[in-house]
This record gives sequence, C-alpha cells and structure tokens, in this order.
Amino acid sequence: ENEPTVSITVVGASGDLAKKKIFPALFALYYEDCLPQQFTIYGYARSKMSDADLRHMVSKTLTCRIDKRENCTEKMEQFLKRCFYHSGQYDSPENFAELDKKLKEHEGGRVSNRLFYLSIPPNIFIDSVRCASLSASSGNGWTRVIVEKPFGRDSESSAALTKALKQYLEEDQIFRIDHYLGKELVENLSVLRFSNLIFEPLWSRQYIRNVQLIFSEDFGTEGRGGYFDNYGIIRDIMQNHLLQILALFAMETPVSLDAEDIRNEKVKVLRSMRPLQLENMVVGQYKSHTKGGVTYPAYTDDKTVPDDSLTPTFAAAALFIDNARWDGVPFLMKAGKALHNKRAEIRVQFRHVPGNLYNRNFGTDLDCATNELVIRVQPDEAIYLKINNKVPGLGMRLDRSNLNLHYAARYSKEIPCAYERLLLDAVEGERRLFIRSDELDAAWALFTPLLKELEEKKIIPEYYPYGSRGPVGAHYLAAKYNVRWGDGVDQ
Ligand code: NAP
Repeated sequence: ENEPTVSITVVGASGDLAKKKIFPALFALYYEDCLPQQFTIYGYARSKMSDADLRHMVSKTLTCRIDKRENCTEKMEQFLKRCFYHSGQYDSPENFAELDKKLKEHEGGRVSNRLFYLSIPPNIFIDSVRCASLSASSGNGWTRVIVEKPFGRDSESSAALTKALKQYLEEDQIFRIDHYLGKELVENLSVLRFSNLIFEPLWSRQYIRNVQLIFSEDFGTEGRGGYFDNYGIIRDIMQNHLLQILALFAMETPVSLDAEDIRNEKVKVLRSMRPLQLENMVVGQYKSHTKGGVTYPAYTDDKTVPDDSLTPTFAAAALFIDNARWDGVPFLMKAGKALHNKRAEIRVQFRHVPGNLYNRNFGTDLDCATNELVIRVQPDEAIYLKINNKVPGLGMRLDRSNLNLHYAARYSKEIPCAYERLLLDAVEGERRLFIRSDELDAAWALFTPLLKELEEKKIIPEYYPYGSRGPVGAHYLAAKYNVRWGDGVDQ
C-alpha cells in the first residue's frame, strides 16, 4: 500500500517517437513486470485527444514478443487502462498544473515519483522543462526528465541548453538519452572486455592496429529531411552514437560498475582525444542513381531539403586518443545514409603476428589476414573473431574463418529494444547509460571546430550514388593510416 507510485508522462505523445518506441517499450516493461505496481502513464501534447483516442493510437503499435504470446492481449488491455492523455501547450504552466492535478488523483496521496520523457522538437525543450518543473514536479518523491537528442548543435548551443535545463533541474534529474548505449551489444562491450581474460590484455596500441566504428543506413531522408538538414550526419550519428561507443570501447577499467565511475572514465577518454581536423575528414552527400529501372532520389530531391544544401549525409573521420594506451592508433568512423546496406558495427583489427612462420612459407595471401574482432550491433547481432585456420586435408593451406557468436542461434530470446532498457534505468535511477553534461561538453569540443570550418568554408561534399558504398574519399582517408575498411572485404 505504501509503495511509491510512478507517473510517466510522455511529452509529445502524439509524435512519431512516442508511437514507434516509447509506448511499445513501456508495454514491454509492463509485460515483463518491470514497472512498479503503482504506475500511471500520461500522454501530453497539443493535439486534441481523449484517453480513448490515445489508447486506440497506442494499441495499434503494441506487439507481443515471439516468446511471450501468452496472455498478451489481456496484458495489453490492462496496460492501456493505465494510459491517459492530457492536451496542453508546452509553454503553459497552467496546462501542466492541470496535468499535475490529474496525476495527483492517480497517485492518491502516496509517495509519488515522476518521470517526464521529452519526445518533442528541441525548440520547446526548455519551455516544457520550465512548466513541468514549476507546475508538475513531485512534491514528495523524485522528478526526472529524459531528454532526446539533439543536445544543441555545437559547444555553445549545447552549453546554453545545459545551462537552461539546470535553471530548473539538478544534474541528477537529467537523463540524456543516447539510445545506442541501450543496445544489447553496446552494453555487452564492457562484459566482453572486462570479464574475459583474453580480450583486455590485447586492448591497447600494442596489439590493436586500428578500430573502426561503422554506421550505415540503406535509405535516405525520404521526405523527412527538414530536421536532418539542419544537423547533418556528423551531428546526427558521429558526435553522439559513434563517439559514445568509442568512449566505452577505449576507456580505462572503471573503479566499479557504478554510473559515476563509468562516466568518469568515458570523460577522460574524450578529453584525451584530439579535436577533429579537416584533413582527417571526408564528407559526402548522396546523389540520384538509377538501378534496375528504378531511379533513387538525390538528397536534394527531398522536398524538405534546400536545393543547394551542402549538408553531409555521409562522413568518415580518423580520430586519435593521445594517451598511453592508444597513442597512434587510428579510430576510424564512418556513417552514412542511402548506402548499400544497413548496419552498425565495431571492428577491431589486430596487428600482424611478428615473424609469422606461415607468412614466410605461404607468401602473400595472408598478408592482410590479421585477426579481426567484429561486434555487430545491428541488425542480426553477432560477435565474431576472424582467425587464420588450416583448411582440413593433407596439404597445408590456410584460410580465414570466424569464431562466431551469432545471437539468433545462441539465444532464442528476442533482444529488448534499447528504449526498454533506458526507460527502466530511468525509473530505477540507474544513470550509467545516460550522458552526463561534462561528457557532452567533451564530445562537442571534439567536433565543434571542424563543424564550424566545414560550414564557414562551405566545403562541398563528395557526391556518391544512392545505394552505393559511399565516396571513394573514405578509402583514401583510411589508406592514409594504412587501414582498410573491414566492411568492404567481409559482408
Ligand atoms: P515529432 O513527431 O516531430 O514531434 C513530436 C510531437 O511534438 C508532435 O507530435 C507534436 O505534437 C509536437 N510538435 C512537433 N513540432 C512542433 C513544433 N514545431 N512546435 C511545437 N510542438 C511540436 O518528433 P519525433 O520524431 O517524435 O521525435 C521526438 C524527439 O526525439 C525529437 O527531439 C527528435 O529529435 C528525437 N528523436 C527522434 C527519433 C525518431 O526516431 N523519430 C530518434 C531519435 C531522436 P502536438 O502537435 O500534438 O503538440
């Protein structure tokens, strides 16, 4: 009876992210009995909707996991009964006070904890936070706010956003979401490194030749380029998702698994990195391409994108960490839209075996066959290690084979969506996977000078055909550091 209640308010509930990710994730948590007994979900947005309308909208997006079909419809109905809607403006303390009144009715005088998920465009973040904190924060429990990217568009605007948020919230109330950190294989990165003897000792410049962080999408902006054009792929993917993965990958062993210990180590890595240089960067933009009688559009064919836009839809970069562990090791990033496949992965290429007997005896075909560890974050999660192996038979012939941990084959469970984990962590106050403001500052410091330079000098992107492997420049950039992109060789 005295158990605290949790009220989760999805601000911007009428939007795309709410429908696609947030409500389905909340339902999955409910199904798994991960939400507290006493919880209420409120949708908040300007659109006029009744509770029934919201429930109808949400019901269409809910799904049951393959392994969890039992009682699913029943559970959905129970879940929907806990969902409500309040229509209001984002800058109206009065409208938020009305929400507060409704929340109080559900909370029934118990200790009330409140979580606000800001699923709205960034120009209304601050108004909403101001109104929520003035009129709808919890009187006797915690109040937390989940904020979605973009967190500004450079160091200055990001710092201004943080400063404005901190007028109304303490740092520990702000949960900056980077949904890549909630992905199963990204979480597993630390497990792999720190709980297996065989990886961590190799995790340094001594054995690792280069690290590659690759993100690709096989579609363009498809009429939704309005938001994207103001940001571009560097801000949309590199400065946050790929850089976060890099920091986790490269950090020193944290003192413990505590959120502050982990985030302290991530900040140190970010602060040891050199800001990006234009000569270590390639930018591209997709152009129209006709294949098999189908014409795929150019980025600038998107009606929401200006015809003369120079916004990169592709970028490749070489980054360096100036510390003892990683001195001289190139970290190559590559991210793009409208490429030939859809994928996010980490590739670790190891050094050559010194004085390799087999290289001596078998000539050049093993020249580039060093070990490579691939962590495929999505789709079709997998971890595999490329090793040189003897082809069975009387002769002595070697080939490259994979030691393969293929998730679908090993684990019959469906992998939870990143938003489930992150929402659960926010409810539980686990901050490990959220971005602290000093991390965010350090991340922007690396990218801001370069982004300014690209824009001031109006650097023309290298055009690449829709559905291709991206600009050739990315290969030259890698070659400058004696690197070959692993994804070109191995699909
Ligand atoms: P969205 O659909 O464009 O917007 C969400 C809601 O905000 C809309 O339903 C609308 O509700 C309100 N809204 C939209 N434009 C507004 C404006 N100019 N002024 C006032 N209110 C406005 O956005 P979303 O795709 O759901 O994304 C939400 C947030 O998550 C954004 O910050 C986005 O950058 C971030 N994000 C989205 C995705 C994704 O997959 N969609 C991924 C990562 C991050 P009402 O009109 O009913 O008030």
